[in-house]
Amino acid sequence: MFDFTAAEDDLPSSVWELGIYDAHCHPTDNYKRLAEALGIIDISKLTIMATRLDDQVKVRDAATQYPERIVPSFGYHPWFTHLLYTSPMPPESKYHHYRSVLLPEPPTEFMDLLPDPVSLSSFIEILIENIETHKNALVGEIGIDRSFRLPKSGKLISFEESDTDDSSSASSEVVNGHNSSDTKKLSPFTVKQEHQTEVLLAQLRVAAKFRRPVSVHGVQAHGILYEIFSRLWTGYSVPTRRQKKKEKEEQKFVKLDMEDGTPKSGNDQLPFPARICLHSYSGPPDQIKLWTNRKLPAAVYFSFSILINSRYGDKFKQVLRAVPDDRLLVESDFHMAGKKMQALLAEIVKFVCEVKGWELDQGVRTLGNNWRAFVYGTDDL
Ligand SMILES: [Zn+2]
Repeated sequence: MFDFTAAEDDLPSSVWELGIYDAHCHPTDNYKRLAEALGIIDISKLTIMATRLDDQVKVRDAATQYPERIVPSFGYHPWFTHLLYTSPMPPESKYHHYRSVLLPEPPTEFMDLLPDPVSLSSFIEILIENIETHKNALVGEIGIDRSFRLPKSGKLISFEESDTDDSSSASSEVVNGHNSSDTKKLSPFTVKQEHQTEVLLAQLRVAAKFRRPVSVHGVQAHGILYEIFSRLWTGYSVPTRRQKKKEKEEQKFVKLDMEDGTPKSGNDQLPFPARICLHSYSGPPDQIKLWTNRKLPAAVYFSFSILINSRYGDKFKQVLRAVPDDRLLVESDFHMAGKKMQALLAEIVKFVCEVKGWELDQGVRTLGNNWRAFVYGTDDL
């Protein structure tokens, strides 16, 4: 088990110099530390996730300020989807809204604690603006979470540290997904799956339109996520070798005409993102085969963290073995940039290499290639 209090990693600097990339993290939760931390950490690039309305701008600013080190990802996390209404017109009142998106139906006293909801379409506008400004930006963190419950306080879950000490002992709480004492106690209220799905689909449409990869969160939702993507993939298949030769550009998949089954030209806009990362994947090992079937018209990557995945013990090893070598990514999933983030990343790199039977150098090179392929789309071989 990883020692959460250790702030130093033991990877030699020659290994860091090969390039180690964090495929999913949240350092803007402690934004003030970011600048200082980037000066002391050896992580090549951080793929940083936005999650809610107020952190999109932090991710944007970080990416603008440190373009060499940061790849931004803009999106709306399932934990906060209750704050969005999806109807074209605003709901009659916040009470109407929360009654329609939360399960079971919450009492008025609980809804009193919650803010007025904001329209999904206004969020999508912000998303598009950010995506257009940042040409390498991803869409994320998006997804479905069926186990998440709203904090009793009505406040949002927060990972902000009042203490700026990098070696604070908050991580064991982070493992449970709750950090500040205010957000520790949970209510019984969950966000309806249909509502989460609607918010997810709207964001997947943006990712598809702007041809961006997505970082996806799935908890107790692996079957559902697979269904959602399968529906988007229906009617599309990977091009044959001859077609591929003809259309060398990436993402020119062949659309099968549903009427007579003949392939159509692949110039149409694809209704799904071409590259998908299932972050901190916690689904069954068997399902990996479905996601990585080479006939699927999208490349699905799996990213793993010590914080989340080491909880799964032996199952984690089985999962890692089942992931094709070219679809594996590593992440810290940590909420604060610094030496601890680096140590978490070093730990998962070592663990992956051990389970996969890779030499450290070879493993780091493979993981680096995979990250570049996922983020920049250089995998159209
Ligand atoms: Zn995350």
